[in-house]
Amino acid sequence: MISRAGGAETEFKSDNLTESMDNVRNVVIMGSGCAGHTAALYTARANLVPLVIEGHEPGGQLSLTTLVENFPGFPEGIQGPELIANMRRQAERFGAEYKLAHVTGADLKADPFTLHLGKEVVRTRTLIISSGASARWLGLANEQALIGHGVSSCATCDGFFFSGKEIVVVGGGDSAMEEALFLTRFATKVTVIHRRDQFRASKIMLDRAQKHEKVEFLTNTVVEDVYDASKKEVTALKLRDLRNGKNWEFPTSAMFLGIGHIPNAKVFADQLDTDQDGYLKTTNYVFTKVPGVYACGDVQDRRYRQAITAAGSGCMAALEVEKFLEDQGH
Ligand code: NAP
Repeated sequence: MISRAGGAETEFKSDNLTESMDNVRNVVIMGSGCAGHTAALYTARANLVPLVIEGHEPGGQLSLTTLVENFPGFPEGIQGPELIANMRRQAERFGAEYKLAHVTGADLKADPFTLHLGKEVVRTRTLIISSGASARWLGLANEQALIGHGVSSCATCDGFFFSGKEIVVVGGGDSAMEEALFLTRFATKVTVIHRRDQFRASKIMLDRAQKHEKVEFLTNTVVEDVYDASKKEVTALKLRDLRNGKNWEFPTSAMFLGIGHIPNAKVFADQLDTDQDGYLKTTNYVFTKVPGVYACGDVQDRRYRQAITAAGSGCMAALEVEKFLEDQGH
């Protein structure tokens, strides 16, 4: 086995890893959101029989949203879970294979690459990392039950549903300011709730939000719960003022979280380059520093984070895989 990173010969030590080269996949795709399904579709149509490792959150962030109105081709919009299911069916039609598992370890130094799925091992000539980024949630008792019913981490996706309503954005960074400003297009009032009175947001974004007539701020305040799960809609938040410890109920129709995302790239932390927040660094859109390993979608994109941009970069990664395998004579 030739090491790609250092050029030195590397031998597999584990008894698990003694399969013949017949078992080596052409391409494994890690993650089954928009980017992963698109990469699967393209590599399947290139007869590479991709294996998609679905990951912890099959379907990715789209499976958490309701109506998607900004994915071209659906004039009436389409439900997020339906869109993602369609993408999967389309890739499967051309021979993509799916496995409900997640990658627990990886060796990208040897050729072929080795991926650990718990106790199982998969080896592959190329790897597309499309493991996405997971929204950071607050961890409130009723939060998960109300996702898609007034609790959201995506203003662009869900803001429209709160036209004429009063809503809340949680966070004190650029994402929260951006969400708050975007949501003023629909809401009659947006209250930004932040746990401190200092903000991480850039001055310009904070200024814009503070000057906006529809945006109000509640600082030194934390959300302790969200109601009302039994009605399947957001009616109020339980807040605590950190200065005096007092709780009170704050009526609202929605709670948007802008408290950051966590890219799902930890498993590669010591093998691929990441930025200070853990996003995979890529050049020429999808190239990582390891030849044959590509990254696409939200795991490497902290800027656009849209379904359509994720799909586009999934396509790019797939085309690079084809070219790489061809160049290698496979
Ligand atoms: P961020 O800068 O890390 O800010 C996260 C905010 O959420 C912080 O104010 C933090 O509070 C708060 N927070 C985190 N966990 C919390 C919790 N459990 N409970 C309550 N509050 C919590 O993240 P971001 O706003 O997503 O930005 C990430 C990066 O993307 C930044 O570099 C940002 O500049 C960039 N970005 C840029 C733009 C733009 O330029 N248009 C837009 C979006 C993002 P504390 O401050 O108390 O820690």
